[in-house]
Amino acid sequence: MSEKDEKLKELAQLREKAMSEIARLREELQTEVEPALSADDDAAADMAADIYERGKIISLINNLETKLHSLDRAISMAEQGTYGICEKCGVQIPEERLKIMPETTHCVRCASEMERGIRRVSLLSLAREAREQRSYASEDEDNEDYQQDTDDLED
Ligand SMILES: [Zn+2]
Repeated sequence: MSEKDEKLKELAQLREKAMSEIARLREELQTEVEPALSADDDAAADMAADIYERGKIISLINNLETKLHSLDRAISMAEQGTYGICEKCGVQIPEERLKIMPETTHCVRCASEMERGIRRVSLLSLAREAREQRSYASEDEDNEDYQQDTDDLED
């Protein structure tokens, strides 16, 4: 078996594994939550625990789907014979990195740059939200002032 075929086989196995893991988690998600039959505290606590558990499962599924997406890219790159080469800058990705993350299609530098980019975007949207909240807050203050003014008039 050629090196390329071996890599393709390895990636296909990883893909298979991720797919069956997603299927298993989805199944778990369907059976997990039992609606509280009684309204006592125990049932409510059970439901809260279920909801927490579901959140964890959903984020696991999201991670696996991201991994699956990367695996698909890695597989098509392996088919083209470009596996192990950074998609962004074209450097050879070190063997140790590929061993730890066979699905990666980016070198460490590009991967962390992209991560920073994503974080910057989410920080920007956080800042925007904070600004919006502040403007709501100042509207409230204006209303209070207005309220005080009318109170003064009544006096
Ligand atoms: Zn790179």
